[in-house]
Amino acid sequence: MRFGTLEAGGTKMVLSVGNEQNELLEQTSIPTEAPEITIPAMINWFKDKNIVSLGIGTFGPVDLNSESPTYGWITKTPKPGWSNKPLLPPMRDELGVPALIDTDVNAAALAEWKLGAARGLDSCLYVTVGTGVGAGLVIEGKLVHGLVHPELGHMILRQEPGDPAPDGFCPYHKGCLEGLASGPAIEKRWGMKAQYLSPDHDAWKLEAAYLGQMCMNAVCAFSPEKIILGGGVMQQKHLFPMIRRKTLELLNGYVQAEEILNHIDSFIAEPGLGTKSGATGALLLAQQAYEETMK
Ligand code: ADP
Ligand code: ZN
Repeated sequence: MRFGTLEAGGTKMVLSVGNEQNELLEQTSIPTEAPEITIPAMINWFKDKNIVSLGIGTFGPVDLNSESPTYGWITKTPKPGWSNKPLLPPMRDELGVPALIDTDVNAAALAEWKLGAARGLDSCLYVTVGTGVGAGLVIEGKLVHGLVHPELGHMILRQEPGDPAPDGFCPYHKGCLEGLASGPAIEKRWGMKAQYLSPDHDAWKLEAAYLGQMCMNAVCAFSPEKIILGGGVMQQKHLFPMIRRKTLELLNGYVQAEEILNHIDSFIAEPGLGTKSGATGALLLAQQAYEETMK
């Protein structure tokens, strides 16, 4: 059987076809323009692919309430042209297949939990540090949506001493995680793209401090069994030990869990599926959409 997957991003749409063995078979990428252009282009690519269902992991904010008349719509977003626009409905209807949608980060969390670094556990937090900072959360074997969906990237952090831009760069909030620690925030603060900063640059100590604060907050708020850090910025592997150290320092022995106190290296981990977490999560959603119609 062939399943369609879509990772809907702010700059590009990544489309693929996957199978029941959780393999991604073919893939293409389409730039994200106005929905009137991009959605028909995506439908066109899937049209002759013989897919039985579609799974979507998307940028947000998105309506995930399956009872809502605007299920699968992008809600209010600064992304030009996409505010209050349907994403899932036209694709589902034009392709004539069942479809499920979740946030891109929830899709990644789902894949890491079922098949990746958090396999066998009941919970995990997946955080991507890239153009934005976002998090997907599995708790007691379920993806967390709650009222809307978690927006961990906008948690407020304590300013670190010596930060030359302690308010960060989020247009909505002063001192939120995304505004302080996303790839573009690093670039704005230091005047150079994150990937070009040398490993001994002050930027990394600061980055690890903010991500350590986030891990501390996440441990206290959600009690996940594992925290997985992905996204472009986390390709700086030297950040991992620094973040682990900062997290332990901030927790200060308060949370008495063997996994944290003695196994921090696996508690704060890299994605098991590498850069494929998002697409694999969309594939799992597509499989689920298909199974639901078989009931
Ligand atoms: P997106 O979030 O758009 O899906 P990425 O996760 O690749 O894409 O994030 C892009 C951001 O990550 C950019 O701000 C870029 O500067 C930063 N980035 C990409 N690669 C690296 C790297 N190797 N080291 C540090 N930062 C990186
Ligand atoms: Zn913010």
